[in-house]
Amino acid sequence: MAEEREYSVVIVGAGPVGCALAVLLRGQGIEVDLFERTSASGPVGSGHSFNLTLTSRGLSGLPHPVKRRLYHRGTVLTKRIIHHRDGAISTQRYGTADAHHLLSIPRQVLQELLRDQAVRAGARIHYGRECVGVDAVRPAVTVRDKDGRRTRHEGDLLIGCDGANSAVRGAIAASAPRHMQVTRRSIAHGHAEITMDYTDADPSGLHLWPRGDHFLQAMPNRDRTFTTSLFKPMVGSERRSHFTGLDSAEAVRGYCSTEFPDVFDRMNRVGSGLMARLPARLYTVDCSPYHYRRTVLVGDAAHAVVPFYGQGVNCSFEDAATLAALLGKFRVTGESEIAAVTELVAEEYSRARVAPGHALARLSLDNLAELSSHVDDPAFLARKSLERRLHEEHPDLYTPLYQLVAFTSVPYDEARRMYRESNAVLDGLCAGRDLHREREQIIGEYARVREGGLSPSGTAARQPGGVR
Ligand SMILES: Cc1cc2nc3c(=O)[nH]c(=O)nc-3n(C[C@H](O)[C@H](O)[C@H](O)COP(=O)(O)OP(=O)(O)OC[C@H]3O[C@@H](n4cnc5c(N)ncnc54)[C@H](O)[C@@H]3O)c2cc1C
Repeated sequence: MAEEREYSVVIVGAGPVGCALAVLLRGQGIEVDLFERTSASGPVGSGHSFNLTLTSRGLSGLPHPVKRRLYHRGTVLTKRIIHHRDGAISTQRYGTADAHHLLSIPRQVLQELLRDQAVRAGARIHYGRECVGVDAVRPAVTVRDKDGRRTRHEGDLLIGCDGANSAVRGAIAASAPRHMQVTRRSIAHGHAEITMDYTDADPSGLHLWPRGDHFLQAMPNRDRTFTTSLFKPMVGSERRSHFTGLDSAEAVRGYCSTEFPDVFDRMNRVGSGLMARLPARLYTVDCSPYHYRRTVLVGDAAHAVVPFYGQGVNCSFEDAATLAALLGKFRVTGESEIAAVTELVAEEYSRARVAPGHALARLSLDNLAELSSHVDDPAFLARKSLERRLHEEHPDLYTPLYQLVAFTSVPYDEARRMYRESNAVLDGLCAGRDLHREREQIIGEYARVREGGLSPSGTAARQPGGVR
């Protein structure tokens, strides 16, 4: 008889993703040790606080009690509230059903809540332990505490949940460069938090001020405060950078009063505030595959994306749910099987998650244009309204891209493919037509083309798969 014992994993990084994964693995009786570089009460992230928006895609893989707690601490947002240059305000719903909403939650709150859940589930979090070495063969991690003492910890599976600058990823890429390729690209835009007293504003939507290549965003919190961020191109070096054109407090005040006159008097000390705290750069990290032997990367360690789709953590929770499901499926029964089965799980995990991760990186970059300029453009809005109506009439034939990405579990790469395909048909039907006056006619033609399997030009067209 093969000897039986508890399967054990070592997770590097007790961020939201490491902790969500720990909860899922503990649910399967797996031993979980997390090694976290910061102290238990240490600050989270770059120093800029921002809210994370969770959608049904990311939430669906979490246990029900965790979800309930998240809803208790977060704010449900059903729409975008657009503040136009001329002072007008318009709204755009995120989807067509009640379930189509964002759950906005401050990053620090999400972090604390998930750490608490992981500990309650029986995971051990070791704070003040920085990963400084990886042995991908055993697998094992070497961590250093604040006094410089190093200790080594082995598990059956090693999981890097240590964020965009992952030490685990770095160690694998350095020791097996032919196995793992990593690309890191900065974009021109950075982000910074702005303090804004906005307590009397509508708390049921994400407020957006689209201004060409930059935008301001305000997200309501449960206590009626708002977390406000500016996204704008930057200049300068990594250590001394600022938003383009905003190199003094006076320039910041001039810019904000011109671009956001409706809320400028609510921005407390915006000039000195932005000068004191440099904006943070935004970048994408792509890597492939997401595993090496018995080590896997989950969350931002595998794929850091720019935040313009608000899906980074949702994709990461999907990674976690996929890995947990695979470990449950390939149940290990004996010591002799553990290494081989774990390598298989790691390979399967990579196969399932790399293409969606890369597709999300693309989608996120593309959505910058939507947030900063398109949402203000009447032609874009007419097209979106047509797409929404088309989906209401024929949900089996057309689903808007945002809905596919945020509110379904269709893999991101498949969602992109489906959208490109159905959009090509719709583009053909919309060309040169008045989308308001001819809306019903276009919708009827689209349905006939898709149901008949014909493209607008009469050639065969494939039906989109996935959401039905
Ligand atoms: C401005 C901005 C807005 C965003 N908005 C959204 C949004 O609305 N919706 C959404 O889904 N996503 C959003 N994201 C993305 C989201 O923040 C990330 O996807 C998410 O934080 C990833 O979580 P993580 O646990 O993988 O990594 P992190 O949150 O980076 O956590 C990593 C953890 O590992 C620890 N660590 C790092 N190195 C080591 C080491 N060597 N040893 C030990 N521990 C280590 C860190 O201290 C940290 O606790 C946004 C990102 C940004 C920058």
